[in-house]
Amino acid sequence: MKEIVVISGKGGTGKTSISASFAYLERENSVIADCDVDAANMHLLLKPQAIEASDFFSGVKAKIDPALCINCGVCEEVCRFDAVFFKNATYSVKQLNCEGCGYCDKVCPTKAIAMVEQNVGKFFISKSRFGNYLIHARLAIGAENSGKLVAKVKNEAKKIAKEKGIAFVIVDGAPGIGCPVLSSLTGANYVVLVTEATIAGFHDLKRVVELVKKFRLKAGAIINKHDLNKEVTNEIRNFLEKEKIDFISKIPYNTAFTDAIVNERTIVEFNQNEISDLLKTSWEKIKFNVKEKENL
Ligand code: SF4
Ligand code: SF4
Repeated sequence: MKEIVVISGKGGTGKTSISASFAYLERENSVIADCDVDAANMHLLLKPQAIEASDFFSGVKAKIDPALCINCGVCEEVCRFDAVFFKNATYSVKQLNCEGCGYCDKVCPTKAIAMVEQNVGKFFISKSRFGNYLIHARLAIGAENSGKLVAKVKNEAKKIAKEKGIAFVIVDGAPGIGCPVLSSLTGANYVVLVTEATIAGFHDLKRVVELVKKFRLKAGAIINKHDLNKEVTNEIRNFLEKEKIDFISKIPYNTAFTDAIVNERTIVEFNQNEISDLLKTSWEKIKFNVKEKENL
């Protein structure tokens, strides 16, 4: 089983549209992990049917039992985050301020404080309308710990692929370079960097290349909207060569990306011309690169 992670330094590069097209092209031979849990949208294109849905718990917050509390105020004194407050003759915890450090719980003389696990989202195992498994999640509004949820999504995808003898796990990673991206990169066999020919796109590509190098991962890049700025495209190509990142393909600006989304289809289903062909050859090249790098 090979794990291919698709990431981009910034949003709006077409990363999810490209990942969804790869999901369509590989169909039953791939498990899809939507690791963009903060703004998951792969399901909009793959229209999955849920097989399993469960709550995701992560992190703890303090909760005071008024029946046991003797109003000594010690918890308020020790809390460094101003999470404990006194109102209407009762001590309570502002959930948004609580960092779950547990200090108040340790010092409470009557054991009136419990550290309660937080339900921070939903986790789904589904089948896409093409027949591949889609593992996805929805982080609750304002919830943290998305790195842990990403790890859970990825591990479940890998487990299913191993159990069912499925050749590929295709991971749609989160944009940026934060904790969820680090979590999506762990254990990858190959990373596909989707960038665009803009100054911002190039700047963010440099940051993700740094990350990939730190993890010592093999990677290749797709330059989307390459005709927006030919000078930047050339600079990106030179940079890729210098950094020993495979050049996979360059895709011209095309409204097929938005048209396909509006019609709730992947690009390769919706657009049967140049863009679709480019994505097909890109996927074949990625699979070839994964195999080739294996022997290095
Ligand atoms: S430390 Fe315990 S008993 Fe004292 S105010 Fe806080 S919750 Fe109540
Ligand atoms: S767990 Fe820590 S942050 Fe939360 S209320 Fe207690 S002391 Fe404050």
